Amino acid sequence: MVEINLEHIYKKYPGNDKYSVSDFNLHAKDGEFIFFIGPSGCGKSTILRMIAGLEEITKGEFKMDGKVMNEAAPKDRGIAMVFQNYALYPHMTVFDNMAFGLNIRKNDKADTKRRVEEAATILGLNDFLQRKPAALSGGQRQRVALGRAIVREANLFLLDEPLSNLDAKLRVNMRTEIAKLHQRLGTNMIYVTHDQIEAMTMADRIVIMDVGKVQQIGTPFELYNKP
Ligand code: ADP
Ligand code: ADP
Repeated sequence: MVEINLEHIYKKYPGNDKYSVSDFNLHAKDGEFIFFIGPSGCGKSTILRMIAGLEEITKGEFKMDGKVMNEAAPKDRGIAMVFQNYALYPHMTVFDNMAFGLNIRKNDKADTKRRVEEAATILGLNDFLQRKPAALSGGQRQRVALGRAIVREANLFLLDEPLSNLDAKLRVNMRTEIAKLHQRLGTNMIYVTHDQIEAMTMADRIVIMDVGKVQQIGTPFELYNKP
């Protein structure tokens, strides 16, 4: 669990004349589950990528527990990402897909096995560890993607529309599962979605974004009861 600060964050991509993010501010408490919602192109993914260290921050500071992380390598940030397209490797088993999130050279085999099996237990994937992704349902694949993040024992999860490829029924089930996962791990999570109901039912706080900026921020209760 960590405290996260994004202070006056700006992003201008090379070649663009406009800022994609300008003066974005967020303070997230230990273990908070934060949602970003807003129209396509408003900068949600850009912010996640800057937090993950996959995109440079043009101006401003990103801090974890007070420490400036702008220059930290992605692997030193204690962050795990879950993407919308799962990004699973088709030729690898479920076990290997989950273990891939760890550095096999640095991580000994016994520890890798322990972490993967723990994650598989949490996600109900124990019977599927030797299968390939093609032999899994959409929901199981999504669980493997979550498992890959869990094994990293990260301080912060970044989830970019993780459920948008699933059908409506599965999406509702997975919402509950992710909410439980958040309670169980107590890890900070930032979750990007188009789905207002997802945000209203799962979030501690919701950041409603306008182009590159925070338009409103509050608990679901506060936002729902605002005139
Ligand atoms: P969202 O996730 O909210 O849909 P993005 O963060 O993907 O928004 O995009 C925000 C803005 O930044 C958009 O105007 C988009 O065109 C621009 N953008 C995103 N990625 C790049 C890039 N690699 N190069 C140039 N512009 C980009
Ligand atoms: P390295 O191999 O560079 O020393 P790590 O052992 O920390 O770094 O991680 C191995 C690689 O796995 C990293 O490059 C990381 O980007 C990648 N990776 C795989 N799954 C995830 C995930 N869910 N979240 C973040 N990174 C991941």
